[in-house]
Amino acid sequence: MANKLFSCLGLSLGLVAGAVLAAAPAAPAAPAAPAGAAESVNIYSARHYDSDDLIYDGFERATGITVNVIEAEGPALLARMKAEGANSPADIFITVDAGNLWAAEAEGLFQPVHSAVLNGRIPASLRSPENLWFGFSTRARVIFVNPARVDPEWVTSYQSLADPRLRGQICMRTSSVIYNLSLLGALIAHWGPQRAEDWVRGVVANFARPPQGADTTLLRGVAVGECGVTIANHYYYVRLATSRSESERAAAATLVPIFPDQDGHGAHVNISGAGLLASAPHREAGVKFLEYLAGDEAQAIFSSANHEFPAVPGIAPAPELAEFGRFKVDPINVSIYGKNQIQAQMIFDRAGWR
Ligand code: FE
Repeated sequence: MANKLFSCLGLSLGLVAGAVLAAAPAAPAAPAAPAGAAESVNIYSARHYDSDDLIYDGFERATGITVNVIEAEGPALLARMKAEGANSPADIFITVDAGNLWAAEAEGLFQPVHSAVLNGRIPASLRSPENLWFGFSTRARVIFVNPARVDPEWVTSYQSLADPRLRGQICMRTSSVIYNLSLLGALIAHWGPQRAEDWVRGVVANFARPPQGADTTLLRGVAVGECGVTIANHYYYVRLATSRSESERAAAATLVPIFPDQDGHGAHVNISGAGLLASAPHREAGVKFLEYLAGDEAQAIFSSANHEFPAVPGIAPAPELAEFGRFKVDPINVSIYGKNQIQAQMIFDRAGWR
């Protein structure tokens, strides 16, 4: 069993660090260190899925390396790693959204990993061009329509959300949400900043109400007809569709999911991903862990934990995703989202998407 601690416990870091120091004598940094030289790996995770435990257990079984995990919110972990600096016990940082991985990259927290396994299995579009972090599952940002309020045929692309026919129909989350920043970051890359800003103004003009709520509340709002259209990550819809609650399943049945831009650049996808920290005390074990995440066993678990799509081509997605079939994915490198993040926020602010 992996040692799992939550950072709300003030002692947890000390406990983990202590355990690590006791368990792992200074491993030689030489790349040819013998197998088994590293005995533990310390993971800071901003993912909170019970199924991730299966991954940690699977890695321990496969390698004999003990996994220590600290789970907390992404910003808290980022602040913590910055504060710990070179003394951080963390080897691996796992989080959602390339924008969050980019934020850690921008702080200089990652070191590059040149692994034939990772480069061979993870598509180049789903990892940092400098190999500082890697995507292990993907999530699509999908348009959802209530067909009683909006003709789904009007909504085939992100661009169509700015169509004046959708006046008073659109409900959205606030612009500071990383999912929206990353989406606009991609659109800036495709369209340039001027068209992206015109688009934001058009979408804002179609708002049914000021931005509020989270993906699930927006999906419910569209299902009951408070709004006609929203954008949400696909797994929130799958959660409703596979819920034990009859009313949640009914809400999902009302919604029409539309994967945008299937005749164009494809639907925007983001990642759950991880990287090796620059200060990692167990570099070799950390690389093994990343490589394990790209393996068949972990890919199946890593994606099914949150109804995400496996990052590695050829691995079947979880059964509950079958209804989505195959859709065209925007092939842009996800690292663009972070690079355009500040510009995206400035455009949102200027255009009044609060
Ligand atoms: Fe989410």
